[in-house]
Amino acid sequence: MHRFFPLRLPAILLPALVLALLAVGGAVASVPASSQDPAGGAVVLSPEQAFAGQKLKNGWRFAVGDNVAWAAPGFDDSAWESVTLPHRWVPENSEEGWSWYRLRMRFAPLPTAQQWSLGLEFGSVMSAYELYAGGQLVGGVGRLPPAPDPVIDYDRPRIFSLPFSAVDANGELVLALRVWGGDVAVSDSWGVGPYRGHFRLARQDRLLLDAVIDQMPGLIVSIICVVFGFYHLYIYYRNRHLDSFLWFGLAAVVIGIYGLSLNQWRYFFGWEFAVYKKLEFAAIYLVPPLSLQGVWSLLDRPIGRWLRVYQLSFLLPAVLFVAMPGLEIHWRTLTAWQLWTLPALGLTAWRILRSMLEGHDEARTIALGAMLFIGTCLHDIGVDLLHLSNPRLLPWGFLIFVMSMAVSLANRMTAALGQLEQEVAERTEALEAANRRLTEAARVDPLTGLYNRRGFIAEAEVEIQRMFRTGRGFSLILADVDHFKSVNDRYGHASGDMILMRVASLLREGIRDADRVARWGGEEFILLLPETGADGAALLAEKLRERLADNLFEAEGHRLRISMTFGVSEFRRGESLEQCVARADAALYQGKSEGRNRVVLDSQQAAP
Ligand code: GH3
Ligand code: MG
Ligand code: MG
Repeated sequence: MHRFFPLRLPAILLPALVLALLAVGGAVASVPASSQDPAGGAVVLSPEQAFAGQKLKNGWRFAVGDNVAWAAPGFDDSAWESVTLPHRWVPENSEEGWSWYRLRMRFAPLPTAQQWSLGLEFGSVMSAYELYAGGQLVGGVGRLPPAPDPVIDYDRPRIFSLPFSAVDANGELVLALRVWGGDVAVSDSWGVGPYRGHFRLARQDRLLLDAVIDQMPGLIVSIICVVFGFYHLYIYYRNRHLDSFLWFGLAAVVIGIYGLSLNQWRYFFGWEFAVYKKLEFAAIYLVPPLSLQGVWSLLDRPIGRWLRVYQLSFLLPAVLFVAMPGLEIHWRTLTAWQLWTLPALGLTAWRILRSMLEGHDEARTIALGAMLFIGTCLHDIGVDLLHLSNPRLLPWGFLIFVMSMAVSLANRMTAALGQLEQEVAERTEALEAANRRLTEAARVDPLTGLYNRRGFIAEAEVEIQRMFRTGRGFSLILADVDHFKSVNDRYGHASGDMILMRVASLLREGIRDADRVARWGGEEFILLLPETGADGAALLAEKLRERLADNLFEAEGHRLRISMTFGVSEFRRGESLEQCVARADAALYQGKSEGRNRVVLDSQQAAP
């Protein structure tokens, strides 16, 4: 059996790996983000520092409420609460879903317009916002009230260009963030404010490049999943009995779509926020039942009734919820879904473990993939809980899981192919044996056990070939029972058959091993005598004739005698077998007309 994935990762390694990653991430996150100006409360930066990249984690001021005057650089926010990003708060009532964040920075030494090319990367904000720099609106995400159709869009990190004009004569730059919580359902379940991603300054071109690079792994992984999924669906389409390919293909496509719906490249399509979210939620609902199906079918386990019900408990609400307009139903139920997924994780782990203990070939490969996947899940949950700035590993976890399933499928296919090849070889051999028997049977006369006409011709061809090699010829004797019709008429066909069988054995016993005898048809027999001339053949024919004539046959309790007439011909170079037979036949015919029970040599043979 071929194994593409012989690794065996000790179970202890995985938690250790996760902890190590968390520790590294924690260390990165706790690096002081910037220095604070003790006098003015502003963050002090050299322009070079800012261009090279500077986290904006500390030094923010925060207030609940809404007043556009708070965008002004001169506004005194010293009474506001100090916070660090990311920061979320939960409004107590729906009117309260507004808040502002302000950050004062001072550049020392003063930057010049020529060197200025500063960008601001701003991570995801719940649920929509406007960003002001030096009192000027530089952009935002979503659309805030009182616009007639406010839009929230909380999954979208953005890169803004900070204009030089936003910096005042003292080198001060004030950022002000006006945040709207949006829909009540979102703001009370998830809070309001900047909650995930990078909040940092750097040269704008670098930020853009980083953003592209940052999104690439997720994009590539997702595309691989989708392509891989469709490839497996295609294989299933061509081979309908390969269920595992169907389920694996569907799971991979759904996982891929989920990844795409999270990726910032999705905005390339320019759809509504709600459309991406619907896609994302649909994928979330479908992954557990499909993964269950995929794992169970890979491990050759039937899905029991309760497991089927459990799967349907994902599927049916998924269809219903996705069909319902708006996103509120999703927000309200997301936590319940997450909890409802836990049994799936547990069951899958249990199933894989059991199959592994039972010695299933593929369980180990899938177990490795599942373990790494769960590891990435734990890592990302840790990142969320501890507010670390580690990169998210979930896309890679998904990829590993998908790959492990693919590897296991490939293993299984290889094993199946090997088995198939063996079976084919065995069957081919059996077929060949049957064929040999059939060919043999096709050459033998069932009544007498002698060669039939077809068998005789094949033997004669071999003899003719041999004659060309050795130069030694052969002769033919054609023998026909005399008045056999009357034997049949008198004693019945069955007795006739018995007599024919006896004739056959008399003929066979009367010749040498190298000679061949066959039933030419009816009560007519043919003999081939290698390395025998016409005279020798005539002598043998005479012996046979006497042997036949002397024999007492039995039919229905009667004893009777029969005779045979023989025609002899010697094969001549250059003629065909048929021609030689025809000459023996002519001699036989002559013998019949001359009174039967005699041997006649072919006249052309006898002449010279
Ligand atoms: P002759 O050859 O001497 O001219 O007379 P005959 O009666 O043998 O002539 P013919 O060749 O016309 O008849 C052959 C008969 O042999 C006809 C048929 O009833 C019989 N016969 C042919 N094949 C079989 C067979 O397989 N079993 C039996 N019982 N009879 C057969
Ligand atoms: Mg005949
Ligand atoms: Mg006859």
